[in-house]
Amino acid sequence: MARPLVSKKRQKEIALERISILFTQAKEVYSKNKGLANRYVTLARKLTMKARIRMPREHKRRYCKHCYKYLMPGDNSRIRTRDGKVVISCFECKKFTRISVK
Ligand SMILES: [Zn+2]
Repeated sequence: MARPLVSKKRQKEIALERISILFTQAKEVYSKNKGLANRYVTLARKLTMKARIRMPREHKRRYCKHCYKYLMPGDNSRIRTRDGKVVISCFECKKFTRISVK
């Protein structure tokens, strides 16, 4: 069966769309099912790798870079600014992620 011809640009757009849907659903499902929220993060990461795109900045803060768990500020993570950087503490693996804001 022939694969439909879709431009690389379109593939990336589709991937981005699906990623934002996954993060929206992860947010909704988190309170009920953390495992499923984590699974959505994994799927979103796979999409970025497959489409060879970067994770959009607004989503980067929503999961842990070390253990790839979905992070809910106030529940399993803490977000603070320090020295012009955003520091995300993950309570799942007790590690920190720093993101420079500038
Ligand atoms: Zn973590």
